Amino acid sequence: MDSGATELAHYRISTPSDDYAATIAAIRNLTAKLIQGITSETKIGIGVPGSISPASRLIQNANSRWLNDHPLDVDLEVALGLPVRLANDANCFALSEAIDGAAEKAHTVFGAILGAGCGGGIVVDGRLLNGPRSIAGEWGHNPLPWATADEYPGPQCWCGRKGCLETWLSGPGMAADHTRTTGETLTPLEISARAKQGNKPARATLTRHVHRLARGLAHVVNILDPDVIVLGGGLSQLSHLYEELPLLIGPHIFADRGSAVVKPPKWGSASGVRGAARLWDLPGASFRRLGELGLTGGMSSQ
Ligand SMILES: [Zn+2]
Repeated sequence: MDSGATELAHYRISTPSDDYAATIAAIRNLTAKLIQGITSETKIGIGVPGSISPASRLIQNANSRWLNDHPLDVDLEVALGLPVRLANDANCFALSEAIDGAAEKAHTVFGAILGAGCGGGIVVDGRLLNGPRSIAGEWGHNPLPWATADEYPGPQCWCGRKGCLETWLSGPGMAADHTRTTGETLTPLEISARAKQGNKPARATLTRHVHRLARGLAHVVNILDPDVIVLGGGLSQLSHLYEELPLLIGPHIFADRGSAVVKPPKWGSASGVRGAARLWDLPGASFRRLGELGLTGGMSSQ
């Protein structure tokens, strides 16, 4: 992205699964390709699942679990030889949509990712809210609120808990719910397509999902009272969410009238990487530099 926020190049590759060193190498190769021919100063912004723990300075909470417990930002600066800023991918998404996306000029923005996982990010007046644990906005491993008897204790989550919002609201969560009810294995987009054709079990799965999503978002509204909620991730393509969520969230909100404003992302699947580049527009205080740590390089062997 150039200084005018115009996208100059875009590549997508698969993440090498379960292999930290190969992940670093893949990012190094991708970066070399991206910056080829660019002669001006280059800075790298990276969005990742999880976040850097302020206590240990290592990655925590990544569902790509091979990243956890590594100093990923330091290892990338060493591997790339370029300045790197790194943040949670949902935070990058929320930042992108708050700066020049669906929530442009909004005071408080909650970006909710509904994809392989369920994450969230909060932007207030154009600044990311981080917090002393770097988990602000992480609603995906809270329990489903106002759970009914048949929703309790809920599916087992990879994090060790049961009934996390992620197990209900993410793409795999919706697919698993459909399988439990019908025995069919379908993706969320296939379920949505069948529902549009009048398939009743598929429509019922969408209805259960949107009701659960409304309860999850109402919890966020009661704490944060955001001006705009922007949905991201693969499920943000499901158009029924924007029609149904305001009506379903309203009754759960502790206010005398109104509901929540829920919008689709302006930048689609490019929003996270645009937000990662935007990390360089933020004050530097929340990003450590190699020199400050007295590190001289060498990839972590952890
Ligand atoms: Zn969980």
